[in-house]
Amino acid sequence: MSKPEKLLDKKGLRLDGRKLDELRPIKMEVGVLNNADGSAYLEQGKNKVLAAVYGPKEVHPKHLALADRAILRCRYHMAPFSVEERKSPAPSRREIELSKVIREALEPAVFLEYYPRTAIDIFIEILQADGGTRCAGITTAALALADAGVPMRDLVVACAAGKVDGKLALDLMDLEDKYGEADVPLAMMPGINAVTLLQMDGSLTLEEFQKAVKMAMEGCKQIYEMQKKALKAKYVAIKEEIQE
Ligand code: UDP
Repeated sequence: MSKPEKLLDKKGLRLDGRKLDELRPIKMEVGVLNNADGSAYLEQGKNKVLAAVYGPKEVHPKHLALADRAILRCRYHMAPFSVEERKSPAPSRREIELSKVIREALEPAVFLEYYPRTAIDIFIEILQADGGTRCAGITTAALALADAGVPMRDLVVACAAGKVDGKLALDLMDLEDKYGEADVPLAMMPGINAVTLLQMDGSLTLEEFQKAVKMAMEGCKQIYEMQKKALKAKYVAIKEEIQE
């Protein structure tokens, strides 16, 4: 899409009608795939993300196994049809980097020491992308890990804040990410107030950066509540099925 003249209108509203501190509409569902140990699906604005988890299971190749803990492996992948210009299905440098960054954001939450000599594999498929997919991927993967019954210190949740037309804004979409002044993706475990990912693209003053971090954390806390609801909803549905 070409560069819009302005990212904010006269009333200070964004291109999709959101206020500066407003998240995109979010939908989540847990346990959407039959053949994975855990899975989740998330929509955040136009982003559509699927995550699947396998494990803890035997490690292949065997030499990768660690004697004192499980290894966590993560693949972030964008479907060829997920973006405006067809993306090659082969892993790009960006996807390899994001796979690492996402793994590092999730790793502190998982009790890897409970499962020595095993592997936990996470697959994140971006079916449709509209900015902030690394964050949406983390939020979805944490749900899939919980769905797989992997013990965790807390759920991990991610959200970005940034700057558009001189103003700080929450949860940037693609056009704001591309044509805005800055983007600060952040992942955290809200229950124990620990940040597991913090990046910045663009430029901000120190004061703006601090405000953006606070804003992203507020966004994370809202999404965290939705994550817990989505997990509970699965078990309510199972209970109803049993009672029928
Ligand atoms: N994008 C794209 N083609 C690509 C990679 C990214 O169109 O090959 C778009 C996509 O909408 C993505 C956005 O650019 O969400 C921002 O990408 P970035 O690398 O900042 O990661 P994200 O914000 O998704 O975490």
